[in-house]
Amino acid sequence: MAAVRLARAGVAVSLFDPTHPREKPCGGGLTGRALALVSDVVDIAALPAVVVKSANVEPPGPHGAAAAVPLIDRGATPASSLVVLSRAVFDRALVDAALHAGARLIAEKVTGVRLIDSGASALVSTNRTEHQATVVLGADGANSLVRKTFSVPFSRQQLSVAAGFFVHGATSTAIDIKSMMRQPGYLWSFPRPDHLAIGICAPATERTTSTDLRQQSRAWIRSHDLDRDGRLEPYAWPIPSIGYKSSDGNRSAGRGWMLLGDAAGLVDPLTREGIYYALLSGQWAADALTSRSPADAPLAYQRRLDAEIRPELVRAAALGAMFFTPAFSSLLVDALQESQAIRRVFVDLVGGVQPYRGLRRRLLGTRQWALAGRAMRVAIGPRFTSTMKRAISPRHQGTV
Ligand SMILES: Cc1cc2nc3c(=O)[nH]c(=O)nc-3n(C[C@H](O)[C@H](O)[C@H](O)COP(=O)(O)OP(=O)(O)OC[C@H]3O[C@@H](n4cnc5c(N)ncnc54)[C@H](O)[C@@H]3O)c2cc1C
Repeated sequence: MAAVRLARAGVAVSLFDPTHPREKPCGGGLTGRALALVSDVVDIAALPAVVVKSANVEPPGPHGAAAAVPLIDRGATPASSLVVLSRAVFDRALVDAALHAGARLIAEKVTGVRLIDSGASALVSTNRTEHQATVVLGADGANSLVRKTFSVPFSRQQLSVAAGFFVHGATSTAIDIKSMMRQPGYLWSFPRPDHLAIGICAPATERTTSTDLRQQSRAWIRSHDLDRDGRLEPYAWPIPSIGYKSSDGNRSAGRGWMLLGDAAGLVDPLTREGIYYALLSGQWAADALTSRSPADAPLAYQRRLDAEIRPELVRAAALGAMFFTPAFSSLLVDALQESQAIRRVFVDLVGGVQPYRGLRRRLLGTRQWALAGRAMRVAIGPRFTSTMKRAISPRHQGTV
């Protein structure tokens, strides 16, 4: 995305990546806001993709009916949609757009980056060659070499593990989501035209291994009878899941370098949506470089991330702790079954239209007081005091 925007602005861009076309371990779900960002870059309608019609949200544990939520809902905001495609297809289309705009693809793995001329230039080395550049944009994912060189590598606490299978020979027009009992996090099944991407994500603690998550994915696949004809292709990959705090020292830019997408830790720690933030940060890095001097652009970019993305990630991380408890997940399934208004909020959340900011107010605006009371009991457990009870009683509804 950065390469497209910069090349279109007439900047000389060299894009280093030896892997395309390649599948990336990913659901491949593009929310409405991600689709809007790439609308003038990639013609999604021309690519093999699945427009998701509904979501089945399963309760945690082996029993209980799933809530079936139509995602293409007349009451939801028009922009709230979810399209799923293979990353081999989508990422290749992005690379092609960059080449079409004038960027040069150097299909070599970067082995080192360093600043020279007191930071006025950077030297990028591959196994074969060396290239000099004014600025290096590290869009090199969760294991970013650029991040390790210029900032601090992610700690284990800042990572999630995601592991599962591509199930070839099966497809659908629905996504499936299920909170897991064994560890915080959730299972998803995302349909592509000729296969399903199924996996489970969980915080990368000592106890969570990709083998264990894959076994749980496999059990779900079996319980849904999806492994009868399908060939299962295993994968596992880290996802940065950072609840940013201002003091955590995670710099994403400095003189001569900027980090984008996963390399900057820009993934929603609750939903693990990262494609939107990767695209957005690519656009913002290009904005900074085309509107300021190379010396000033990194700081402007960092400030924009801090002001506009990080607060959302902090809110998501704060919600995450409660969201994946079995009690809350069960409540969510009940709420989706019982309330059309809550279903609409959910559709907008899945589509990336409803930010975490304003979420509480919108939920309260649904006036689902009984559900709100149960949610508060789940959220604060034994500390559910008479004050809280009063706050949600019909007499006080107007003041909540
Ligand atoms: C299992 C899983 C499911 C996910 N599902 C979703 C989803 O459905 N929707 C969503 O929005 N997000 C999802 N995410 C998150 C999403 O995949 C990432 O946030 C997103 O891909 C980040 O894009 P990126 O460009 O920053 O990094 P990446 O997509 O990881 O791309 C990094 C690129 O850098 C290249 N590279 C790395 N090192 C070098 C090097 N030394 N030299 C040259 N090239 C290099 C790699 O080859 C790669 O092409 C998921 C993640 C996982 C792991």
